[in-house]
Amino acid sequence: MKRINILFSDIRKKFGRIPLRLKIWIYFVIYTIIVFVLLWFFQIIFLENFYENMKIRDVITEGEFLAESCLNDSIDDSTYEKLLNQSSMKNDMCIEIIDKYGRSLHSEKAFGDCLIHSKDGTLSTMLSKLKKSKEGEILYMGKSPRSSQKSFIYGKILSDGENIYGYLFLNTPIEPVSSTVSIIKRQLMIITFILIAIAFAISIYVSENIASPIVKITKSAKKLANGKYDVKFEGNGYLESQELADTLTYAGQQISKVDTLQRDLIANVSHDLRTPLTMLKAYAEMIRDLSGDNPKKRKEHLEIIIDETDRLTMLVNDMLDLSKLESGKQTLHCTEFGISEKMHGIIDRFKGVSEKMGYNIHFTPDEERIVCCDSVKIEQVIYNLINNAINYTGADKQVYVRQVNLDDGVRIEVRDTGDGIEEDKIKLIFDKYYRSENHKREVVGTGLGLSIVKAILKLHGYDYGVNSTIGKGSVFWFTIKNLPKGE
Ligand code: ADP
Repeated sequence: MKRINILFSDIRKKFGRIPLRLKIWIYFVIYTIIVFVLLWFFQIIFLENFYENMKIRDVITEGEFLAESCLNDSIDDSTYEKLLNQSSMKNDMCIEIIDKYGRSLHSEKAFGDCLIHSKDGTLSTMLSKLKKSKEGEILYMGKSPRSSQKSFIYGKILSDGENIYGYLFLNTPIEPVSSTVSIIKRQLMIITFILIAIAFAISIYVSENIASPIVKITKSAKKLANGKYDVKFEGNGYLESQELADTLTYAGQQISKVDTLQRDLIANVSHDLRTPLTMLKAYAEMIRDLSGDNPKKRKEHLEIIIDETDRLTMLVNDMLDLSKLESGKQTLHCTEFGISEKMHGIIDRFKGVSEKMGYNIHFTPDEERIVCCDSVKIEQVIYNLINNAINYTGADKQVYVRQVNLDDGVRIEVRDTGDGIEEDKIKLIFDKYYRSENHKREVVGTGLGLSIVKAILKLHGYDYGVNSTIGKGSVFWFTIKNLPKGE
């Protein structure tokens, strides 16, 4: 048993490595062979049996019907005669009805060598045989002594269950099917050859049609695996292959995007890391060699070292925050708090530093609203948006923050007066590590701020977006939704 299993699994493995084209072709040929074997079997071998059984069944049904009609008082003699005549013609059948004393009541002759009408005493032999049976049966099956035609006789007792009124005999020939079989055989032979040829052609066509898009897709997939991300998958042929090709083309584009972003990340991060590290080294060396003994200069240099360390910490923190948020393990710790108060707190913290650099942050609050969300994370969202607004606002250095109470929540808007963002870039700015090509290098940023904003707002299920006008500035907004009633 084990050996057979191993043998089967070996065959399955080998069959699994057969090209699709060949496999479809093999299935097709097997199907065709099965169809023909069945056809030959039923048409040639079973045809005679089929024919005989069918004929017997038909005659028995007809006999029962005629017997019933004979005993039916509502059918008069002339109608019954007609019925017998029609039945005899339709079924190529001799009919004989005799009463219980053996006198002929009705007689129909349909073919020449009718056994029940011959004068050789067949009818009386059949009658005595029928009398021994209960109702009716096939009384004789065989060749006629005069001609070699095969026929059979069916007999039926005409009785209402108590009294016997007479007897019905039906005799019908069984036509020889051997000549028909040989005609069918020849026809089948020709049809078999034609159909095998057609099946062969169709199977090649079908297997080509199914396999060729897959072969094309496989070729393109190999290119994709070798880093050619712009490869276009073509699956023309049928719906599934087209869908597969489209999906793979899309996957290629996405991989290409991730790849570009990854490269950008390495470029950005290494640049962002190198600048503060160079500064750290330079100022540390300056303190060691020059300003170590000069308290004023030393303090100044140490201040720069501390700033640069902060820059590095920020970069690393952003990366950690985002990876935590994206890991899906972050949960929300929702608390209730007044949004206006929270906004005032954040903006006050900004004002200390930004006003020294000449930035103005204007806050327009609405009525105080109690909201329920993760305050630490929402604070980070607001912080990142204001930070970006300060970084990207125009020369007037103005930033406008607004709280707008809505029926279903509170909308927070952060507006700057900068260059604005082009329509096609808006989709990208929330992507990880995306930084516009013309962003100011001096702007401290990691390209992760808006990705963190997006991750937090998605976690809360809040709507967010940007409205931007080139040359006028951008408005970044999000809506803190009211809790559903009853929660
Ligand atoms: P970064 O650290 O570069 O600011 P972000 O994820 O916060 O990273 O922003 C991604 C990019 O979106 C920025 O590089 C910038 O090009 C664009 N961007 C963000 N905020 C603004 C804004 N207020 N005005 C114009 N462009 C912006």
